[in-house]
Amino acid sequence: MSIVILRLPDVKRQSEERPRKCAYCEGETFQRWGQVKKPVRDTRRRNVRVYRYRCCRCGRTFRYYPEGTTRADQSERLRVFAVICWTLGLSFRGVSTILSGFGITLSQMTVWRDAQEQAERMKKHNQWQRVRVLGVDGAYVLGWGEKRPVLVGVDLGNGQPVALGYVDEADPGAVRRWLEPLVQRLGVSVIVTDDLMSYHRVAEQLNLGHQVCQFHVRRWVGRALKELRTTVPKDWHWVLDEIEELIEALPPEGDRRLYALWKRLPGRKSAPDRPRTPLEQLRNLLIRLAEQWKSYTLFDQDPEVPWTNNGTEQAIGRMKMRARTVRGYKTWPGMETGMMLAGTGIS
Ligand SMILES: [Zn+2]
Repeated sequence: MSIVILRLPDVKRQSEERPRKCAYCEGETFQRWGQVKKPVRDTRRRNVRVYRYRCCRCGRTFRYYPEGTTRADQSERLRVFAVICWTLGLSFRGVSTILSGFGITLSQMTVWRDAQEQAERMKKHNQWQRVRVLGVDGAYVLGWGEKRPVLVGVDLGNGQPVALGYVDEADPGAVRRWLEPLVQRLGVSVIVTDDLMSYHRVAEQLNLGHQVCQFHVRRWVGRALKELRTTVPKDWHWVLDEIEELIEALPPEGDRRLYALWKRLPGRKSAPDRPRTPLEQLRNLLIRLAEQWKSYTLFDQDPEVPWTNNGTEQAIGRMKMRARTVRGYKTWPGMETGMMLAGTGIS
């Protein structure tokens, strides 16, 4: 698992270089204008040296902070360290207490603000990053006293969550409204999902490559076959065996074979208002698998596409683990940033 953003930044004692540009104007030449020793809250340093410069163009002076520090009391390193502690499961109060054990004072409120800020940065970073293969999966999170459906998008290149939406995955219109801008902004060309009809429809509408998680396919097809075995006449059981083998081996041309089998079966005879016979159900299964075969086997032609949606499920697992211990989200943006941060995972 790579850590894209939550890497502990370095904190320099002093700047080794001069500023390149004035803080106020386009000026590029400066005079040194004194220095101050600035106390910082950090895991290692107690203070840093900050030089003051005067711009030769506009005449104004400004402080030039060494790498890893800003005008804030705490260093960037401490900021990220606190957020990591929080991501790993400590409460804001817990982070504050742990740090005080090391002689560092950082209020709960500051840790909370740092977490919000870090999540904001992550969002900005995500807006510029390219995501070729996006894992999408629905989940339920506990918020405001009830379970609510959310949709999570994960960059399967690095396992990082890139988007979270308040969307029910079974609603194709809502999934599309959420996914379309994301696809455009991130340059997504393939989605990996489970086998819900809504995903098939949206992938087609948005002209996306689509891989269905094989765990899901095997699970539902396995269940369907098991049931058909108890209802379909014995002399058709060889078809069930063959479907089982195809799903196991996933040959690229499997859809042709499925079509051929579909043609071998007798057509629909039951009236439209009557339930389907077992053989008709088998025939339906064959055509559904044949039509969706391309989305079962895309991983075979594209090495960047995984054959399961594990990466997405892991990110959601981290979010849920964290969500259990997080209380007090009052707004959806607060919830969103917290969940996104929690999903990044540190390992
Ligand atoms: Zn200037």
